[in-house]
Amino acid sequence: MDAKKGVTTKILIWMCAGLILGSLINAVASDVAFIQDYLVNGLFHVLGALFISLLKMLVVPLVTFSLICGVCGLGDINKLGRVGLKAFLLFLLTTALAITLAITVASIVGPGQGFELSESSASNFTAPVAPPLTQVIIDLVPSNPIAAYANGNMLQIIFFTILFAVCILMVGEKARPIAEAAERLNEVMMQVVTVVMHIAPYGVFALMAKTFSLQGLGLILPMISYFAVVAIVLLLHATGTLMILFKLFSKLDPLVFLRKMRTAQIFAFSTSSSNATIPVTLRSVEKRLGVDNSTASFVVPFGATINMDGTAIMQGVATVFIANVYGIDLGITGYLTVIGMAVLASIGTAGVPGVGLIMLAMVLNQVGLPVEGIALIMGVDRLLDMMRTAVNVTGDAAITTIVAKSENSISVETFNDPTAGHVEEVHLPHLHKNDSAT
Ligand code: ASP
Repeated sequence: MDAKKGVTTKILIWMCAGLILGSLINAVASDVAFIQDYLVNGLFHVLGALFISLLKMLVVPLVTFSLICGVCGLGDINKLGRVGLKAFLLFLLTTALAITLAITVASIVGPGQGFELSESSASNFTAPVAPPLTQVIIDLVPSNPIAAYANGNMLQIIFFTILFAVCILMVGEKARPIAEAAERLNEVMMQVVTVVMHIAPYGVFALMAKTFSLQGLGLILPMISYFAVVAIVLLLHATGTLMILFKLFSKLDPLVFLRKMRTAQIFAFSTSSSNATIPVTLRSVEKRLGVDNSTASFVVPFGATINMDGTAIMQGVATVFIANVYGIDLGITGYLTVIGMAVLASIGTAGVPGVGLIMLAMVLNQVGLPVEGIALIMGVDRLLDMMRTAVNVTGDAAITTIVAKSENSISVETFNDPTAGHVEEVHLPHLHKNDSAT
């Protein structure tokens, strides 16, 4: 049993160790040059960056092969459209619910009321530029698929790969070897994910140690009301709203779901990127929750790109906070605009660290709040980014499972099996024995 607990527990322990060590360094050694140079900006930085690259390295090939398998596995183009539409509508619904909850709670608690605006905090801040919505739509289609792959543009990659896979189906017999090759390559990529998960505890440790030695927890204090409201709404959404929808639509046990999502949540938390977490989310959803590759391969990367409940929550609370600080009353139409804009904004931006702030600039602009207000919340954004990314990933997986259940493409037996998909020790086969049969 203990051996089976293996990797997830180990990652969790190393994560806490990183957090504690990082906070300690921040508290007592933030100006000890040796520690900063060799540990924080040396060892932790290198290990953390290596780990993030390792994860990102997997995303594009994994999504491509997995998506080709998924579409070919469906064998039915209508089903693809249906799955896509269901997922899209559910993503919109959860994001809208998330931001509505955020605005409601924030309006009641009133973070930022009585906050003293210091001139310096907002003065030298340049607002990030948000892409216009028309460009977001045009950019769905890659003018050059190789460039889309080279830049890791997820929506473009998804668009091209689906079209390519649908055409494999249309060509039929002649193209079957390509579908088979994709299946084998997908199998291999999944194995690469498993191998990377064995290295993960140390990567997670380094990321946590670096972030917390630079950030510390002290920054939270002056921002405590804003920080606490975002954190509470994130928790309410992940364990309340999402789980009620999950139970209602899928009739599966939310507690089992949450338990099995722990690994993906930790990865999301420590990397702050739903995109970089795609390999782990895909693995958890397929191997741990029992969702068919045909649904997971499409809905998970789609969700990582367009579904950001946690980010929408931060934006809702931040809007109320900034409006309070500047003493501006947005009124009900203002808040409805915020809800609409936040939902649209989450579609157009990829799940990478810090992107939520760029989207926030777009939202603030739209309702006429000063974009410089972002400078006020930047200090705690790194930490909130980690938390909201975990919620974003939870939302992606919950919707994937709901859609899979409605399409009958989930193994309920695997879902309910507590040990399904556990990462256990990697056994390197003796290559000369040629024992590849499984
Ligand atoms: N880091 C978040 C994600 O990858 C996006 C954000 O809120 O900045 O999902």
